[in-house]
Amino acid sequence: MLVLGLETTCDETAAAIVRRTGEGPGEILSNVVRAQVEEHAAFGGVVPEIAARAHVEALDGVVEAALEQAGVELAELDGVAAAAGPGLVGGVIVGLTAAKALALVAQRPFVAVNHLEAHALTARLTDGVPFPYLLLLASGGHTQLVAALGVGRYVRLGTTVDDALGEAFDKVAKMLGLGYPGGPQVERRAETGDPVRFAFPRPMFGREQPDFSLSGLKTAVRLAAEKAAPLSEQDVDDLCAGFQAAVTDVVANRVRAAARLFIQRFGQPSALVVAGGVAANGSIRLALTRLAGELGLRLIAPPLNLCGDNGAMIAWAGAERLALGLEDGLDFAPRPRWPLDAAAALPGAKA
Ligand code: ATP
Ligand code: MG
Ligand code: FE
Repeated sequence: MLVLGLETTCDETAAAIVRRTGEGPGEILSNVVRAQVEEHAAFGGVVPEIAARAHVEALDGVVEAALEQAGVELAELDGVAAAAGPGLVGGVIVGLTAAKALALVAQRPFVAVNHLEAHALTARLTDGVPFPYLLLLASGGHTQLVAALGVGRYVRLGTTVDDALGEAFDKVAKMLGLGYPGGPQVERRAETGDPVRFAFPRPMFGREQPDFSLSGLKTAVRLAAEKAAPLSEQDVDDLCAGFQAAVTDVVANRVRAAARLFIQRFGQPSALVVAGGVAANGSIRLALTRLAGELGLRLIAPPLNLCGDNGAMIAWAGAERLALGLEDGLDFAPRPRWPLDAAAALPGAKA
């Protein structure tokens, strides 16, 4: 089955074509991503209006490139999918409308994909991981520990009570003058930093309930930065290293708590899966590799180009849903807010 997927929920305009042949990994025939870095750089974050306009301008070309690179005609598709949320509504409308029009023209089914479900299913695209698995979804807008029980069947075990992990990286980067998006910048500066010079807190460490809290840590970084000002390059490196070390410790500890809860409620998971932009972080990946080893679990972390937002994950989630006979009407409305545990489209899915 060949599916075209469009992603426009935030600041990436993306289109991809993916083939699904059954259980087991999929095949990515093309995966075109146009990131809006320059558009938002001056503002230190994504400006919704600018994002929506940039999606309008870029999408046609991105879709054409995806079809061309895959060597696929519209008529050969088995379905067209778009991320219908959660995300910035202006951008979502652009991708959703385009996908509906393409589906109509090609006379193929349309699938509305939950962006978070697409992140969550990426490990099945790359590795064909069987359900159930323990998922850490860590992106710019979300931080969740989830029991992935099936397509459309997710149980949230824990979440953040304040900032998302990616958001914390972005805010720390901004306060240190490192630019946007912050995650990669903080990681790069941390490489030459001393992780123990600043003793930052590890919020929620040791709690049984696998939740996160990151705003206190963020404030601790701000206070340390103010105290050390004016900041030398080395100060910035050390602040980044200290912050990343604290986040890494917290992530490992929270995932450990989630694994315990998962096993109690659902038995042994098939794997530990990490998804979302923060999954690109080397320090976090390393800690999760160690933890998975200790827990006797396989760690599945997507390749870097599938960690952040992309069309392949949308196409794949669309293919998984189509394979179950799930499709959506052309009247499907954008969902700026759309929690993963409400992504259900299957009977009894809200476990
Ligand atoms: P969501 O998926 O919740 O709607 P989003 O789509 O903006 O949010 P992604 O594109 O999945 O999120 O991820 C972007 C986030 O990942 C940003 O916050 C970015 O700083 C963070 N990130 C990217 N690379 C790294 C890295 N190497 N280390 C830490 N964080 C990173
Ligand atoms: Mg993004
Ligand atoms: Fe995302």
